[in-house]
Amino acid sequence: MTPLLPTPNHYLYNLITMTSPEAKRVWRKAIKEHFGSTCVYCGNYYELQDLTLDHVHPKCKGGATITKNLVSCCTKCNHQKGSSNWLDWMRKTFGITSRESLILSHIK
Ligand SMILES: [Zn+2]
Repeated sequence: MTPLLPTPNHYLYNLITMTSPEAKRVWRKAIKEHFGSTCVYCGNYYELQDLTLDHVHPKCKGGATITKNLVSCCTKCNHQKGSSNWLDWMRKTFGITSRESLILSHIK
């Protein structure tokens, strides 16, 4: 299990990786592993390589590319959510689920 650190650079600072592209790769993998290789929105399990990372607070609205703003999600949910408010979209799509608290505790 890869440790979950705040940004790719932290993997360099901690000498977990030696190059920037490798740090980004390890970081992305650590986030997906953190969520048990599931999509946080629909809750389904996927192979790591089939998951994407979603900016909970959309990048186009100023959301940062840091661990606290990134969750693993399937391509379908990522596409459907787009730049919507994650909670509004999630409730409209799935109703109220226990996965909300998973996301809330990750982004706080
Ligand atoms: Zn999904």
